[in-house]
Amino acid sequence: MAGFRALAREVRNPRNTIALRRTSLRKCLERFAPYGHRATWRHLCARAGLAPDDRAPDPALLISALAELEEAREVWLTYEAGFAGRRRREKHDGIRQPSAVDDWHRNTWGGCDIVPCASPDVTPDARLADVLRRVIAAMESAPGEACPVCAQERIEWRTDLERYPLEGPVCTDCGIVVPVSVLTPAALFAARRYAFAERYATV
Ligand SMILES: [Zn+2]
Repeated sequence: MAGFRALAREVRNPRNTIALRRTSLRKCLERFAPYGHRATWRHLCARAGLAPDDRAPDPALLISALAELEEAREVWLTYEAGFAGRRRREKHDGIRQPSAVDDWHRNTWGGCDIVPCASPDVTPDARLADVLRRVIAAMESAPGEACPVCAQERIEWRTDLERYPLEGPVCTDCGIVVPVSVLTPAALFAARRYAFAERYATV
């Protein structure tokens, strides 16, 4: 199975057919897709100006989508390397307390669904690398009241998510499933109340 870098080379290779170059980019998403496969594809297409179903897109647009993905992957690999180093040191020092970050990390190792989106049609507007930087910064600081990506506080507790986690707080603006550990208990309570009020309003 080809790795991410080998696939990225196939996307850039002008001697390949455009169909192969596009397929290679889709395969890159099997190796790294922070929002989940479909949502990441839609996001990259929207940012690069690619039509998601265009089988013969402009190669320059494919490469621009790839560049955004690669930039985000670098941010993530740097974070993972730092995390692994920290774990090794903790193990060496005999500290083995699993933390909330560990929980998040266990489910994101490898780089898929790092920040899953509740719907593939709603993803943050910002560049993928910036979104990852914001989520990592939130993970490494004290819990807050707002979405770590777009900083607004209307967060709704959803119980109908399709993949892990099957329920959780979802930002009503940028659409990400907010990692529980970055929110305060008060913010989580508000998210559940918001969901209840929404349901009540539609009855
Ligand atoms: Zn948000």
